[in-house]
Amino acid sequence: MHLTGDGISLSGLSKIFGSGSKQVTALEDVNLATGRGTFLSLLGPSGCGKSTILRMLAGLEEPSSGELRMDGQSPAELRAGNHLGIAFQDSALLPWRSVVSNIRLPLEVAGIKPEPGLIQGLVDLVGLKGFEKARPAQLSGGMRQRVSIARALVVKPSVLLLDEPFGALDDMTRQRLNMELLRIWTEKPATTLMVTHGIAEAIFLSDVVAVMSARPGRIREVFEVDLPRPRTPEMQRTPEFHALVDHASDLLFGQRDQSGVS
Ligand code: ADP
Ligand code: MG
Repeated sequence: MHLTGDGISLSGLSKIFGSGSKQVTALEDVNLATGRGTFLSLLGPSGCGKSTILRMLAGLEEPSSGELRMDGQSPAELRAGNHLGIAFQDSALLPWRSVVSNIRLPLEVAGIKPEPGLIQGLVDLVGLKGFEKARPAQLSGGMRQRVSIARALVVKPSVLLLDEPFGALDDMTRQRLNMELLRIWTEKPATTLMVTHGIAEAIFLSDVVAVMSARPGRIREVFEVDLPRPRTPEMQRTPEFHALVDHASDLLFGQRDQSGVS
């Protein structure tokens, strides 16, 4: 059910940057298929092309060859419909705008008037009640990322692209925001692709995890996370969870030392 291809679908996707002797093959023949409404995480070493995949899905970068589809639509089609939500690692908020005005921005750009209560609802959803008028500089890193998530959700996304959304934050904040993200996603499920370097968080949040290999980036393995939903923090202490984490670690870092000495 999670690998049907009517969610995120990448086929024969390659990306070459530059030309001549400066040419870099960032991605080579990447193939991946998930179902609509599936939460997919991408894991892989730094520089293997994870952000490039996201940027191509967001229509910010053109593939050198191959095809991308999200819920059956091309990046251009999806963007034209204004149902693509994007949040990147640095929250990229406009410093002179308040929290609500940053959240509203994608609708303004699209020339859509927010329906009454929509923005306040999102402020509440991401736990920023009372900070509506604050500027980014007055917020903590975690709060800025919450604004960034709310801004991604303001378009009522059918597809959500998250590039290490909590990557720059400390562990505690990150764990808390992962729980928040899980709650929000459960309330408003969307076809999701999240890039992360956190193995445990990838498994905790996802239906499907794709592990990539180093440059040129390729898909090494795709596996399903068959933990039941709703997910609870306690699940992270089960043998099933640990087995999945070990499996992903083996794929990323090679087989661990059999002697048990690390
Ligand atoms: P990741 O997100 O997995 O760390 P990226 O997608 O950012 O990796 O980058 C993949 C590779 O492509 C890297 O080697 C990077 O240097 C290269 N790259 C990314 N964007 C560009 C660009 N605009 N021009 C040239 N090379 C790029
Ligand atoms: Mg990246």
